[in-house]
Amino acid sequence: MNTKKVLEEAKELDKKYNIFITINENFDGKFPLAVKDNICTKDILTTAGSKILHNYYPVFDATAIEKLKKRGAGIIGKTVMDEFGFGTFSTNCAYKIPKNPHDPKRCCGGSSGGSAAYIAASKYAEFAIGQSTGGSITCPAAFCGVVGLTPTYGLVSRYGLIDYANSLDKIGVLAKSVEKASSCLQMIIGHDSKDSTSVKKKQGIQKKKITIGIPKEYFANVDKRIVVQVMKYVKKLEKDGFKVKKISLPHTKYAVPAYYIIALSEASTNLAKFCGLRYGLSYSSEEKGFNEYFSEVRTAGFGEEAKRRIILGTYVRMAGYRDQYYLKALKVRTLIIRDFKEAFKKVDVLIAPSMPMIAPKFSEIEKLTSLQQYTSDILTVAPNLAGIPQLSIPCGFVDKMPIGMQILGDYFREDDIIAVGKQVEKYG
Ligand code: GLN
Repeated sequence: MNTKKVLEEAKELDKKYNIFITINENFDGKFPLAVKDNICTKDILTTAGSKILHNYYPVFDATAIEKLKKRGAGIIGKTVMDEFGFGTFSTNCAYKIPKNPHDPKRCCGGSSGGSAAYIAASKYAEFAIGQSTGGSITCPAAFCGVVGLTPTYGLVSRYGLIDYANSLDKIGVLAKSVEKASSCLQMIIGHDSKDSTSVKKKQGIQKKKITIGIPKEYFANVDKRIVVQVMKYVKKLEKDGFKVKKISLPHTKYAVPAYYIIALSEASTNLAKFCGLRYGLSYSSEEKGFNEYFSEVRTAGFGEEAKRRIILGTYVRMAGYRDQYYLKALKVRTLIIRDFKEAFKKVDVLIAPSMPMIAPKFSEIEKLTSLQQYTSDILTVAPNLAGIPQLSIPCGFVDKMPIGMQILGDYFREDDIIAVGKQVEKYG
C-alpha cells in the first residue's frame, strides 16, 4: 500500500466532498481505515461531530479499533457526522457538511455520512467504520450506493464509542461489497469485558434454504420507483429458488415516536457529562456558580439539534410525564420486538427498501421540519429498537441516484443476511 497516495487521495476527496473532520498525517498501515468521529482513537482528535469536544484526544483506542489495528489497519482519518449521531442527512454537523459523491448537491445520509462517502469515492479503501443508533449505517449506505452492515446489538463491543443511546448504539461497517463488510465484521466481533452489554454469542450457521419475508408496512409511503426496483430484485431471488412470503409487522407505525422518546431520553442523560469540567470545551470558571458555568459551556458547545434533543429527552422522562411517554415507549418497543420474533418464526430474513426516498438535495432538506426529518427514519428505527442485524445493499438507481434494499435477520443470524446479500450482489 502506497501510504503517500492514500493520504493524497483522502485530501483530494475531502476537498471535493467534505469527508473528514481530521485527516491523519501520520497514516501508516497495511490498509486505510476511516473511522466515524464518535469512536475513540488514541491520540487522534475525536469530536463526535461536536464543538463541545473540539479538543478531545483520547488516551485509548475503542475495542473495535484496537482489533482492527492488530490486523494492520492504519487510521486514515475521522469522518464527518451529525453531532453525536443526531440526524438522518449529515446536515446537523458542527464542522462541515459532507456532499454525496454521486451528486454534490445532495446529502450523504446520516449520521455516518463521511464514512459512506469515503467508501463510495475512494479507490483504496474497502471498508470503513460507522455506527448506528436508529439507521445511521443503512441510510448513508443507501444514499451513497455502498454496503452497510449493522450487526446484532452486543456483537461488537461499544467500549470507546461516545454514546448516543446506550440501549440502541452499535458499531458497524460501510463497505464496497458484502464480502468486505463481512470480513471487517469478523475482525471486530467478540466478547469484551469492558462492555457489559457485549455478548459471548457467535454468529449462526447458515441454513441451506432461506425463506424471505416481505413486510407490507415497509412498502407504504415509499417512493414508488424504489418499491418497483426492490421488488425486481426480490423476483430475481424468487426465480433463483428463494421462497418469498408476504408478512406483516403491525406495530411499525409506532416505531418512530417510540424510538425518538427512548433515544432522546438516553441521549439527554448521556450528554450531561459534557459540562466543561472533564472533557472538551472549558472556560475559566472563577466566580461562577456551577449552573451558570455549565449553561455557558453548553450554550456555546452544543448545536441546535443537540439542544433540541436534550430538551425533548429531559421532558419525556420528567416526573409526571414519565408514565405517559417514556414508559409507554418502552412498552411499544416490546411490541415491536414481538413483531420481529413472530416474523422470524415464519421466515429467515426480511427484505424492504432501506430508505423511503433517494438522497434529498440540501435545498430540500432546508425546508423540512424536525418532525419531517424524524419520520424519514420510518424504515430503519424498528429494526434498531429490536437490535436485529441489518444489511443494506445497493440495488440500482432512481433519478441517477443509488438506492438500497435492506435485509433484516434474526438475532445473531448475520450469516443469513450476508448469504442473501451476496446473491443480490450477483445481479449487479
Ligand atoms: N436518524 C436517527 C436519529 O437521528 C438515527 C441516527 C443514528 O442512528 N445515529 O436519531
